[in-house]
Amino acid sequence: MAAPLYLDANATEPLRPEARQAVLQALDLPGNPSSVHGAGRAARRLLERARDQVASRFGTAPADVVFTAGGTEANALAIHALAPGRRILLGATEHPAVLAAAPDATHLPVRPDGTLDPAVLDAALRQGLPALVCLMAANNETGVLHPLEELAAICRRHGAALHVDAVQAAGRVPLDAAALGADTLALSGHKLGGPKGAGALLLRPGLAVAPLIAGGGQERGRRGGTEPLPAIAGLGAAAAAAHPAAAARLAPLRDAIEAFCLAQGALVAGGGAPRLPNTSSLILPGAAAETQVIALDLAGVQVSAGAACSSGKVGASHVLAAMGLQGAIRVSLPWDAPADSAERFTAAWSAMRSRLSRPALAGARLAP
Ligand code: PLP
Repeated sequence: MAAPLYLDANATEPLRPEARQAVLQALDLPGNPSSVHGAGRAARRLLERARDQVASRFGTAPADVVFTAGGTEANALAIHALAPGRRILLGATEHPAVLAAAPDATHLPVRPDGTLDPAVLDAALRQGLPALVCLMAANNETGVLHPLEELAAICRRHGAALHVDAVQAAGRVPLDAAALGADTLALSGHKLGGPKGAGALLLRPGLAVAPLIAGGGQERGRRGGTEPLPAIAGLGAAAAAAHPAAAARLAPLRDAIEAFCLAQGALVAGGGAPRLPNTSSLILPGAAAETQVIALDLAGVQVSAGAACSSGKVGASHVLAAMGLQGAIRVSLPWDAPADSAERFTAAWSAMRSRLSRPALAGARLAP
């Protein structure tokens, strides 16, 4: 039997070989990067190599890279550092990591294609400053890209601080922190093809951030705790290996999937907007997302519902709701997607669609 087809890269990318090698090298080093002896210095060299790799891939200086335990912590650290004294404005489709870190924030509505209208941000900023604006570069459920350069320019014009959650965009579309001019930018290792357990917050040059987790002064006092070197080394290697040009090869596979499903009556959430090359949010009218995810899994195709929370339960997606939609499955092609991914997915999807539309099953399986 063929190995399952993994199409859930936006949950976690498969480990890249370069990252695996870097992890193994770090695991074999006994030293603590803070120790002054030779073993400590060897560990410190790996840590700083990873910092250089992240900095050069995403257009910042090594001193402005703070390693964290992942994207959630990087977002929380940014908001913790930038929020005091500012009102917070968020896009309505932000990730729960950002929503939870700013419970009192004002949510800005998005257009039906999932993008934020620059005029909406401009009007919101006119209503009060100082402000912190938090925007995701790419949405995790739909892959929709906000017009980020334009939105960043509006923030600059108003003197508002800007935090960008770049967890899904990094490595898949060009991303340059210095050119964008954001105050902070969050990354996650396992979304780049590194291991789980490391992320990074990139800071505007010279920005001082108070730690969320204080401790032994690691990360220049910005994040306490002995650095998880294997995960960080893997993050660095993954960042160096993740090229938007390589990710672009996934767009034709994604487009073939969408062309097939659209012809069979499906809808694509955010289909008219600029999007990540690997992501498709497919709605089969009348069919519940969780039913589809289970049916596809049984057919050896692994996708997720729009909003799978950590318990494995599927909740209503706030992202789709903000776009006036519901019930999508997320197909997200990994960096190493096989060339026959579109054929295999569409065969399984089409068989599922036929089964779900049989009257005998419709009552049990179709959503209201
Ligand atoms: N931000 C976005 C857009 C995400 O998709 C995710 C993870 O799904 C996160 C933040 C959280 O990242 P992590 O899993 O590394 O904590």
